Amino acid sequence: MFERLLKELKELERTKQVSVPIHADKDGYLDRECPNEDCLFQFKVDEQDWKNLFKDEKIYCPLCKHEATSNSWWTKEQLELAKDQVTKHIKGRIDKAIEQGARDFNAKQSRNSFIKMSMSVKGTKPYHYILPIPSKEEMQLKVQCKVCDAKYAVIGSAFFCPCCGHNSADETFDNSLKKIESKIKNIPVIRKAVEEISKDEAVTTCRSLIETSLGECVVAFQRFCEVTYLTKAPETKLKFNAFQNLVIGAEYWNELLGESYQNWLTATELKKLNELFQKRHLLSHTEGIVDEKYIDKSDDNTYKVGQRIVIKEKDVSELLKLVKKLVDTLRQK
Ligand SMILES: [Zn+2]
Ligand SMILES: [Zn+2]
Repeated sequence: MFERLLKELKELERTKQVSVPIHADKDGYLDRECPNEDCLFQFKVDEQDWKNLFKDEKIYCPLCKHEATSNSWWTKEQLELAKDQVTKHIKGRIDKAIEQGARDFNAKQSRNSFIKMSMSVKGTKPYHYILPIPSKEEMQLKVQCKVCDAKYAVIGSAFFCPCCGHNSADETFDNSLKKIESKIKNIPVIRKAVEEISKDEAVTTCRSLIETSLGECVVAFQRFCEVTYLTKAPETKLKFNAFQNLVIGAEYWNELLGESYQNWLTATELKKLNELFQKRHLLSHTEGIVDEKYIDKSDDNTYKVGQRIVIKEKDVSELLKLVKKLVDTLRQK
């Protein structure tokens, strides 16, 4: 009665491959993950470009530029789900062989014997159909490489094109800023639309959009500075998020170029930039509640300790303008 099982086991031994399909997201992007254990950055690539443009020998991590062959970029989730699917599939095939074996046994018994013996197999799940692995939610920031045309998507920012390794700090910065600009531009429309449902919600939604925009602006600037700095001085070990802090950032630029923010902006502009950076700091660390440090560092006397800061669309627009001015200057250096 075990012939079928033995046959199936032999069959499995010969099976070199069980394919598990992986689905792209709504926008046609596949999930990927950097195999560098220190990085593990997750990003997405356009499914068609992955087939047609990317080279099997070498794919780059958009964040750390680690290089590896194209079969090393599965995400942890994909690998886990695939393992699960394959295990279920193999178990299904074995269960099926055992069940069939039992059926064969029973069929033979009933024909040949006075004594009825029958065998039943419990708890088996014959056959498991391999399910495709779904993809994660779409990523907002989509980048198309201006060198090789490959399309990829990231959360936050990325530095390198995964297909050709081109340093994409410029495109990423421009894309991030465009995204923030359009968000701010659309606030009145969003406000009106949400007001139809609830006035309270309209206020909170728009406030949150404006406040996150301020943060995104600082992050975009930080990333741009970091990549630009490391391109010029690759040996430098930069402090974590060094350029989110204007004082530390300025020291780095001074060291490298002999000039810095105070040379590139007017005193009024620099004061405003500093105030907005400090406000962003409050939003991410004290939920916007003013503390002693804020007043010291920002020189902003319009608030008392314990108050909550108010951010308006015009603050974001102002920060966009200042950050752009700095980046334009840095691009000339
Ligand atoms: Zn990486
Ligand atoms: Zn490229």
